[in-house]
Amino acid sequence: MSFSRRDFVRTSVLGTIAAGAGVRAQGEVAANHLLENPAAAAQNNDAQSGSYKRPIIICAHNGFDYLDDAFAFLKSGGDTLDVALRVVKGPEDDPNVTTVGLGGIPNEEGVVELDACCMHGPTRRAGAVGAVRNIKNVSLVSKAVFEHTGHVMLVGEGAERFAVAVGFPRENLLTDHSRKIWLLWKEYHSNSDWWGPGLADPHWQAPTDAAPVSPDKAPQQPERGKPQSELWRERYRRLEEHAGKLGIAPEDRADAIHKVLFPPTGTIHCSALNEKGEISGCTTTSGLAFKLPGRCGDSPIIGAGCYTDQDVGSAGATGSGEENIKVAGAHTIVENMRHGMSPHEAGMDALKRIVRTYNGDMSRLRFVDMIYYILRKDGAYAGVSLWEGYQARRPHTIAVHDGTRRSEVTTALFKGYSQDFPPEPKVPEEVRKQYLK
Ligand code: ASP
Repeated sequence: MSFSRRDFVRTSVLGTIAAGAGVRAQGEVAANHLLENPAAAAQNNDAQSGSYKRPIIICAHNGFDYLDDAFAFLKSGGDTLDVALRVVKGPEDDPNVTTVGLGGIPNEEGVVELDACCMHGPTRRAGAVGAVRNIKNVSLVSKAVFEHTGHVMLVGEGAERFAVAVGFPRENLLTDHSRKIWLLWKEYHSNSDWWGPGLADPHWQAPTDAAPVSPDKAPQQPERGKPQSELWRERYRRLEEHAGKLGIAPEDRADAIHKVLFPPTGTIHCSALNEKGEISGCTTTSGLAFKLPGRCGDSPIIGAGCYTDQDVGSAGATGSGEENIKVAGAHTIVENMRHGMSPHEAGMDALKRIVRTYNGDMSRLRFVDMIYYILRKDGAYAGVSLWEGYQARRPHTIAVHDGTRRSEVTTALFKGYSQDFPPEPKVPEEVRKQYLK
């Protein structure tokens, strides 16, 4: 059932190269980046056949702090979905987590929109909500969908009205911190719209590549003629100045600037399995920062951001939502396990399908990332990722509690770190040091 990375490279990527040489021309070949070291795959417990433990909870790194309480609840007989919901409610309630629930970074219009879905293994029920405004605990709303309706998915205004009808409070999800980051983002892009200081502002400056005042005056030096380091220094200086004017605390400015230049993602998935073998999962997020209003990522899509089958196991995802939807990641993984793959193999196969989406073109894949959290019904689990971590920040991890709470590094398909998106010219090291400490 399983196949090696080498086989994959030969049959999938190279096969595609032969078939689509035009697409390949500008990119590197995925094969160069595949992690060939099998020792890296031995992180998770599916390498130790027969030693699996139940009960167990697995989740994304941002659920780590909530695992002790949830595990005690699981041990005391708590329902597996309620256990998973207890974990993800932690970041949803935390105003300092800017990627889930309250305090999430808003969409491009400054409105926080949340996505979530869940599956209850024992009763084989599913619920989902997408692009919900003004309701903090959308993971709980996704459960309410199957408890109180004959539907599986509600979105937008209808989902919000449903949540209020069943008792969830309406509240403002935009914290001052996230609002200021959004304003900074708006102003940074204000060369081409009406945001930011206008002509009447005493500090307004003409763009350096503006047309000359009179035809006989020589045009100013166009921006593109400047060295990259100077351009970046100017950008950061402008962002720092705006951040100060917006009242962003000096110690928060580097983080805010990074979020503006490279809109962050972030999500939490959790799957829980009890001693009897009952299993459930859920995923919740504020999705991609500054997204278009109404955009739904993979998190509210049953089969993409989360999928649980009582007969097999559960899987969830964080990362590039659009890519995961296209490979129905969580469902693919559970089906792979149903057909005999280990959690690790099942996850790697789903990652390879993402590679296939781009025909192995590394010039695109370096901007994509994906982490899968996988739990089989017998307690075997794996955390796998496309890359080893996000650029120069932290390695990807999976948080686990099976009596011992711990964080484990995921097994990556590719060597190295994914790149921030949108692609910008490389920030010169001296500028990065000065402004992004
Ligand atoms: N998958 C999420 C989305 O696309 C983002 C993330 O997990 O970081 O909305």
